[in-house]
Amino acid sequence: MGLHVGVHLRHDVTLVDAKRKVVEVQDLETGEKFSDTYDKLIVTTGSYPVASPIRGVNVENVFLCKNFKDAQAIKAASDQAKRIAVVGGGYIGVEIASSFAQQGRHDVLLINGRHGLLSHYVDRGLASRIGDDLRNHGVDLHDGEHVLEFDGDGDGRVFIRTDKGEIETDIVILCVGFQPMTELVAGMVDLDRSQAIIVNDQMQSSDPDIYAAGDSTVVRFNPTGQYAYAPLATNAVRQGKIAGANIINPGSIHYMGTQSTSALSILEHNMATSGLTYSRARKYFDDVDFVEFRDNYRPEFMPTTTPIEGTLVFRRSTRQILGGQFYSKLDISMCANVISVMIQNKNTVDDLGYVDMLFNPNFDRPWNYMNLLGQAAINKLDQPQ
Ligand SMILES: Cc1cc2nc3c(=O)[nH]c(=O)nc-3n(C[C@H](O)[C@H](O)[C@H](O)COP(=O)(O)OP(=O)(O)OC[C@H]3O[C@@H](n4cnc5c(N)ncnc54)[C@H](O)[C@@H]3O)c2cc1C
Repeated sequence: MGLHVGVHLRHDVTLVDAKRKVVEVQDLETGEKFSDTYDKLIVTTGSYPVASPIRGVNVENVFLCKNFKDAQAIKAASDQAKRIAVVGGGYIGVEIASSFAQQGRHDVLLINGRHGLLSHYVDRGLASRIGDDLRNHGVDLHDGEHVLEFDGDGDGRVFIRTDKGEIETDIVILCVGFQPMTELVAGMVDLDRSQAIIVNDQMQSSDPDIYAAGDSTVVRFNPTGQYAYAPLATNAVRQGKIAGANIINPGSIHYMGTQSTSALSILEHNMATSGLTYSRARKYFDDVDFVEFRDNYRPEFMPTTTPIEGTLVFRRSTRQILGGQFYSKLDISMCANVISVMIQNKNTVDDLGYVDMLFNPNFDRPWNYMNLLGQAAINKLDQPQ
């Protein structure tokens, strides 16, 4: 049996009536309004880029960075700009600053205030290495500086007022986070503190006929076992598929939660992480520890080799792995995926130290660097106190 999918692009759902199971819709091209009914509704309304409490975000040449239209506007404005200021040192801000620095055509500023650079992903040591790499490639990094307000001169120049002074620039790209877009169903389904829709492991909200997926929902963050707001495409595609499958065949696929596994290219390096950083883990557990590891990924007798840096975060009492961070010129994205599976499966540092990993001098040493990272943690835990 073929499935019929009716696609309405450029249409806005303006109202959901969960009692009558009705949605009201407006065609954005013609303005025409109509309503329709549903048996099951899946809410995938996504997220807004956060702008407040910074004042003046509507000033000319201050851009948000969320969708294709934003990207086109940024591209057009940046082609004319000499000085580009990126506000926000999360993964999007760092990625954008790094891309502009690589082009070598602009003066690039990165202003990061409220939290440390990439603080959801890496601890201070690695953040400071990444900060140095950005500076060495010409990025004027203002870390620990808080943006308060934007102002324009009427000719397209932007003045950024911070807690440390004023900075003049041609354009600003604001990337300080996202918040769930859930007004349509507020009051009809349970939301968490961040206003994200709370869903069970079949992506069903507190209204059994309303499912939700993606940036509009919470995730179950496995390292803590608690709900969290972690707007990532990885969660969105998984949750979307699980919602659809469970509507057709209830109970067929269960959501496994997430470790927020992520990777980023920063200039010549790659960063890949999974789970909790040490500083975040300490907010949840009182027996957290970490080890750092650095070595060439393969033997020096090979034509080339390069260092790989890793951090492993774990609990002392259970020896359970809580997180991992990797940084290298090598593609280390799969290291974060290995740690992700191990957190998901509640593996210990002992498992990582001795799990079977391949050896071939093209790829690693007889002990793979992941095994060695696990063994560094074992050595630290087994040292007499
Ligand atoms: C610059 C950038 C880079 C990113 N890079 C990564 C990455 O490398 N890896 C990663 O995992 N994630 C990344 N993300 C996050 C990822 O893009 C999001 O997690 C993902 O797009 C969420 O998908 P979604 O469908 O839930 O929501 P969205 O992508 O926000 O889509 C929601 C859609 O719903 C529509 N909508 C909302 N309300 C209504 C309504 N009332 N009626 C009709 N339509 C409506 C919106 O117009 C929108 O098209 C990035 C995000 C950004 C902004």
